[in-house]
Amino acid sequence: MIEKKTKINPIDVAMRQVDIATKYLNLDPGLIEKIRHTKRELIVHFPVKMDDGSVKVFTGYRVQHNVTRGPGKGGIRYHPDVDLDEVRALAMWMTWKAAVVNIPFGGAKGGVQCNPKSMSLQELENMTRRFTWEIAMMIGPDQDIPAPDVYTNPQVMAWIMDTYSMLKGYSVHGVVTGKPLELGGSLGRFEATGKGVFITAQEAARHLNIPIQGARVVVQGCGNVGGIAAQYFDRAGAKVIAISDSKDGVYNKNGLNVSDVLDCKKKYSCVITPDAKGGDNITNEELLELDCDILVPSALENQITHKNASKMKTKIIAEGANGPTTPEADKILYDRGIFMVPDILANAGGVTVSYFEWVQNLQELLWSEEEISERLTRIMKRSFTEVLNISQRDKVDMRTAALILGIGRVAEATKLRGIYP
Ligand code: NAD
Repeated sequence: MIEKKTKINPIDVAMRQVDIATKYLNLDPGLIEKIRHTKRELIVHFPVKMDDGSVKVFTGYRVQHNVTRGPGKGGIRYHPDVDLDEVRALAMWMTWKAAVVNIPFGGAKGGVQCNPKSMSLQELENMTRRFTWEIAMMIGPDQDIPAPDVYTNPQVMAWIMDTYSMLKGYSVHGVVTGKPLELGGSLGRFEATGKGVFITAQEAARHLNIPIQGARVVVQGCGNVGGIAAQYFDRAGAKVIAISDSKDGVYNKNGLNVSDVLDCKKKYSCVITPDAKGGDNITNEELLELDCDILVPSALENQITHKNASKMKTKIIAEGANGPTTPEADKILYDRGIFMVPDILANAGGVTVSYFEWVQNLQELLWSEEEISERLTRIMKRSFTEVLNISQRDKVDMRTAALILGIGRVAEATKLRGIYP
């Protein structure tokens, strides 16, 4: 089992990325200072009734990094390692991401420090409802709209929507996205992030003349992002040769049966059955260094560092996760000619269809799956091309190019609004 590498602070990584990208933007130092700061940070300590009758106090966060281009948008994470700096970094990446795909949202993020795997459904519901109450002053369809992230899902979004609606006295569908369809969720939202990762990886492969048919794909993380991305690659005729979760990985050089792996994950909460049918056991560290065409890190931050970047044997990395690669690793990968589709581009399909969900909620519209898929594909392909063009124009890696585009748009909006008063 791979432990989350806690030594590298995600906010340091996010700040270093800003420093690198702003060198190309010719911005006023005061403006750079503004966008380096988060706008609002709320820390809450709140009690939750547990199943054994005891009361446990949890710590949660909601951070809005920047709301210049629109309301805050960003997921809520349930994980033991959640802390203020992680949420700050994730909120900042949301700001750049929404700007890269040019949708009118700012960046926000939230989380509760907890171990959801050791909690019952009732305890998770109690915790979610009380956390929603605690952060209700900051969220709302015009203010800040949460969505699922690591270890949260449509059911958690339904509890948030219900609690917020109880506080208001009427149903407020637009307060969260990633809801169940029955509560105003959008067709295509559940698949959106994984699908966006697939679309942008496919564009990268096209750019490098690598056929997707038969391409060897490795996926770290088997959740909403990794599991769905693996399915899209599989359906397109690629060969998914390895998949992992937090415990284990499974590897078969001839290609895994992706449906079997996902069924196994659903049934046994692991990607490899005790009889190891379909593939061999592999660790998360080994998986990242496999010889492949496309690597899709879709778990947590700081998985690709200066320690393993020089050993990686992939041609393309498409970041399903937020912040899986450190700036030192970025440089090594670029020098080695490994093509990066950075998180703020690759996984922007989620926020894009969240935007579609929010628009449908506000206007009481229902779009078809085809409409959503067509709009998502168009935005992802357009954004990929825009980032690639900047990367070629400025002779920079794709992450720097995406940051130039995202930060540049936020800076422009800030200049137009001016500083109040
Ligand atoms: P999830 O909870 O659905 O799945 C997370 C997966 O990661 C699980 O399979 C889990 O077993 C695995 N995992 C956890 N710790 C791990 C570790 N240390 N090593 C290897 N695997 C580990 O979460 P998700 O929604 O798929 O999110 C995954 C990543 O994608 C996160 O970085 C998240 O911020 C990012 N992301 C998610 C969305 C979204 O719409 N859900 C959108 C954009 C980005």
